[in-house]
Amino acid sequence: MELPPTFITWIEACYSEARYSISFNGSLIGYFKGTRGIRQGDPLSPFLFVLSMNVLSRLLNLAAVRGNVESVIGVISVIDKFYELSGLQLNAAKCEFYAVGIPINITETIHRITGFTHGSLPVRYLGVPLVTRKLSEKDCVVLIDKIKSKLHHWQLFLPQSIINRSEQLCSRFLWKGFDKAATGARVSWKLICHLKSEGGLGLKDLKTWNKACMIQLIRNILAGKGSLWVAWVKSYVLKDKDFWQSECGTNASWSLRKLLSLKREAQTVFSAGALTTRVIWDTTRVKRDKVNWHNLIWFPLHIPKHNMIAWIAILDRLPTKNRLQHMGILSDGLCVLCNDDMETRDHLFIECSLLDSLWKAILHLSGLRPSSSSWNNLLASASHAWKGKSLLITILKLALCAFLYSLWEERNRRLFKGNSRNEAEILKVIKEIVGTQLRGRNINILDSVNITLCKNWSIE
Ligand SMILES: [Zn+2]
Repeated sequence: MELPPTFITWIEACYSEARYSISFNGSLIGYFKGTRGIRQGDPLSPFLFVLSMNVLSRLLNLAAVRGNVESVIGVISVIDKFYELSGLQLNAAKCEFYAVGIPINITETIHRITGFTHGSLPVRYLGVPLVTRKLSEKDCVVLIDKIKSKLHHWQLFLPQSIINRSEQLCSRFLWKGFDKAATGARVSWKLICHLKSEGGLGLKDLKTWNKACMIQLIRNILAGKGSLWVAWVKSYVLKDKDFWQSECGTNASWSLRKLLSLKREAQTVFSAGALTTRVIWDTTRVKRDKVNWHNLIWFPLHIPKHNMIAWIAILDRLPTKNRLQHMGILSDGLCVLCNDDMETRDHLFIECSLLDSLWKAILHLSGLRPSSSSWNNLLASASHAWKGKSLLITILKLALCAFLYSLWEERNRRLFKGNSRNEAEILKVIKEIVGTQLRGRNINILDSVNITLCKNWSIE
């Protein structure tokens, strides 16, 4: 690489002469020599890596120049040599080679020499074949299986049918826990895919995310960076023509047509200064008005199953008897707790006479005076007043979600299992939940309010 000898000496000095010291109880102890080169995280290490990889790359180019079986032998010996020098060994079991138009006896020889398996085209990335034609559903079976086993988010270029199927799987997973029709889903997938501050669960809808990824891909193609695929699209598909001037010809590939159809939107997004996929997604997505209650249920110590019920209750989507009656599923709409009034959300959680002192007891334990309230008042005043991270606010938020969850649980117990608990028993459960969640946390016990709260809620 014709690096100047002085430079090489400097680099050598960096990894052979460096000495280390350890800071122990605030003072430095001794100096010792590093025996394994530079330490992990050293800013020099990426440069050394690039330098040595450059050497490897050049050696490989030299070895592969003839493009025959000898070249394969050459490549393997270069990789062996590289192992000797760097200690990085190739894992033949994880390698595949691809060959087209080569007699079987030669591919067998290559297999024997290298130990690599003979892969078949198309090459797959994350289970999806790298091809320019439109992906068929069959092409994506592996991907769907992967989504089933691991519900992660990802960045890919997908047809609408696959997006729909993936979202269906996610929805089924959320409501049923497995791949079974999500009948009776309480909240639409569209609402779930809004930000928590907009009343959703903060999931991303794949269609918009996929679009954002494609727009990001356009940026990469324009900048000529990112991956082999981008370089290939730039030089072979666009033939280095200006992307903005490119027209969608009759024989343009599916992926190119998709990208060109986003030209106008991409221009708007780029001129708005969106740089990352996330910002592009945020610029292109449909937004809802902010809700003022999201901080009541989304806070650092929240308990997911409580939150889910609290979230559905706030949206008034729990299958209370009035809603089931409205849908024509039930004829009897009486509250299972008091048998006096219609079971609506507001009745069940706030107005029902049977458990009406439960919420008052929670406020009392928190040192607050109960005020007669409706559901809307409770939600509005809590959203307004419960701000900050004090122990009181955390207790109130935890207790509210546990209260909604426990009352819903009690209603279902009485309705489906025929057993019941009294107010004191439910309060005990809520106290236990709050106590367990806060015990061992870093609480300022010099604060007199906190001392009383810890005592009342049995947080030791
Ligand atoms: Zn009632």
